[in-house]
Amino acid sequence: MPARKTPSPVTDRAARGAARRGENAATGRLAGSIRPALTAHADAAPEAVDSATLAEIFRRFQEAEPEPKGELHYVNPFTLLVAVVLSAQATDRGVNLATGPLFAVADTPETMLALGEERVRDFVRTIGLFNTKAKNVVALSRILVEQHGGAVPASLEALQVLPGVGAKTASVVLNIAFGVPRIAVDTHIFRVSNRIPLFIGTTTDKVQAGLEAIVPEPYRLHAHHWLILHGRYTCKARKPECPRCRIADLCRYPSKTTA
Ligand code: SF4
Repeated sequence: MPARKTPSPVTDRAARGAARRGENAATGRLAGSIRPALTAHADAAPEAVDSATLAEIFRRFQEAEPEPKGELHYVNPFTLLVAVVLSAQATDRGVNLATGPLFAVADTPETMLALGEERVRDFVRTIGLFNTKAKNVVALSRILVEQHGGAVPASLEALQVLPGVGAKTASVVLNIAFGVPRIAVDTHIFRVSNRIPLFIGTTTDKVQAGLEAIVPEPYRLHAHHWLILHGRYTCKARKPECPRCRIADLCRYPSKTTA
């Protein structure tokens, strides 16, 4: 899969219209995974929280979880990269079930390349889009061996040209494996950011750029994980758990749940 391209600029009006129709605002095509996020944006508060409130929100996230961790299993930067590539449109749990046995026999680009596409496909066939993903995992392993001495490059540009690696995957790998304070935006973070709102944006790329600009520096490294975990377990898509939310008094979402 080629690197994800930056979406064409869209107007807020066009985005709201697309959201109502359940379309991808950038392409106009139906996009199932992004539909709930855009819908959440459509009924969010009109203005984002101020900088003092933003800092207090992250202070509380940090107080509750000083060292937040993702839920994908990996043993080194290469297996992290593979796990994130496999996780597109799949659950972390489903990916972990497949990668446990896979990483037991191949946890380096060299061993993954030696395993070959057909064997890799057998390990990951329970994951959606497994044919394409198996092809990408072997192809990216070949590039790492031939062009990077078997190492995962700590560079957005070098990561983004790998098969199956877009800006979001590259940002996640840079953040977790190399401690780069990037805030990759998935459907959870997109929803949470537009709902509270931390930063209001019509595409994941815009929200990522916005959050990276406004999240106070001491919180930027872990912001990705705090926001994903908050969206996954508290600020859920269909029914956010507002009564037990640690930032409910700071959140401006007009449709908070009461029970
Ligand atoms: S109060 Fe509700 S809508 Fe606001 S962040 Fe918490 S769970 Fe989400």
